[in-house]
Amino acid sequence: MSLPDILTRIRAAEAKAGRVPGSAELVAVTKGRPLSEIRAKVLAHGTFPLGENRGQEVRDKVQEWTETAGGAPQPQWHYIGPLQSNKVKYLEQVSLVHAIEDVAQAEVVARYAEKWGHAPAVLLQLHNGEEQKHGIPAADLPAVLREVLGTGLEVRGLMVMAPYDQPEAARCIFREAAQRAHDLGLGELSMGMSGDFETAIEEGATLVRVGTALFED
Ligand SMILES: *Cc1c(COP(=O)(O)O)cnc(C)c1O
Repeated sequence: MSLPDILTRIRAAEAKAGRVPGSAELVAVTKGRPLSEIRAKVLAHGTFPLGENRGQEVRDKVQEWTETAGGAPQPQWHYIGPLQSNKVKYLEQVSLVHAIEDVAQAEVVARYAEKWGHAPAVLLQLHNGEEQKHGIPAADLPAVLREVLGTGLEVRGLMVMAPYDQPEAARCIFREAAQRAHDLGLGELSMGMSGDFETAIEEGATLVRVGTALFED
């Protein structure tokens, strides 16, 4: 499906939910896609944040961009994957880290930010309550938020992953995440992927992370 088609679906989901047009933003998930394809299928249609989930891949794409874009500013890189502390060094050009799972990760990011002279904003990944390895249990969120803020990083919101192909479970998870974000006074909500981004928008997503539908359908 082309990017304009995805945008049409996003705008339709916003309208259905009575939301302001543009209040849900597309993050084009470009992991595993070469820069040539990203240029043709994403950047040809405008400026969109690009979601990556491997440190070296971000570093390599940033470098390739620098070498080939004739001085054009870098795209806005988002890091959406699980964060390994030995990979943070590759994320200097990343503006938003979606999936902080504990204070130790935030401390590593804050340490590099000091070295770089600029810091990415971050989201905290909420555990989704299902069988899942990743995320912060809801009960721990207030304490983790306090400590992550203590590192000096700007916490913009929450991120959550729903299980694939379970739309009703996904809706519950999205609704819960929206409630938690609201309770904590956090405005950004990264949730929804190719299979469930419209549901996520109905439940309040401000960032939807779409890869497969954009590149393969
Ligand atoms: C790959 C990935 C996505 C995109 O998933 P699609 O189903 O391809 O749209 C979204 N979020 C995260 C964290 C991912 O790793």
